[in-house]
Amino acid sequence: MAGPVSIEQLKKEFADFLKQKMYRNTQERFLVLEQIALLDRHFSADELYIHINSKGSRISRATIYSTLDLLTKCSILMKHRFQGESAHFELSSRKPNHDHLICVECGHIIEFNVEQLNTIENEVCSQFDFTPMKHSLQIFGVCKDINSCQYNK
Ligand SMILES: [Zn+2]
Ligand SMILES: [Zn+2]
Repeated sequence: MAGPVSIEQLKKEFADFLKQKMYRNTQERFLVLEQIALLDRHFSADELYIHINSKGSRISRATIYSTLDLLTKCSILMKHRFQGESAHFELSSRKPNHDHLICVECGHIIEFNVEQLNTIENEVCSQFDFTPMKHSLQIFGVCKDINSCQYNK
């Protein structure tokens, strides 16, 4: 997917998916998607639950979890498993083709985009007669100075 996608496009994509798979099309699910689009960052299910409910909406944890599951199934969301932490999600269309540095001390996540990785992906795949769809590279490490790290609280 290329370029930023509007909330309306995401909603349409989600509605099409729900219809096709015969899932119920509920207002709550779309409210969750809307809040995710506005959030514009990585989040865990619990962070999203707290965020949405702090805005006065009453959406159950179960609805949040099931909606995240559906949004991941239809590829609107990417699900990341950063080491030792609960799964993090982000919109697939938010920043295409980026990878992550993850600090194992403070959990800080840095996003980066290196063009050569796409070249390597294509080379490796052609070597094995494989059609690439996406890749996910996670580099684990620590912030340069963990004591003065602003994220290490
Ligand atoms: Zn990211
Ligand atoms: Zn750190």
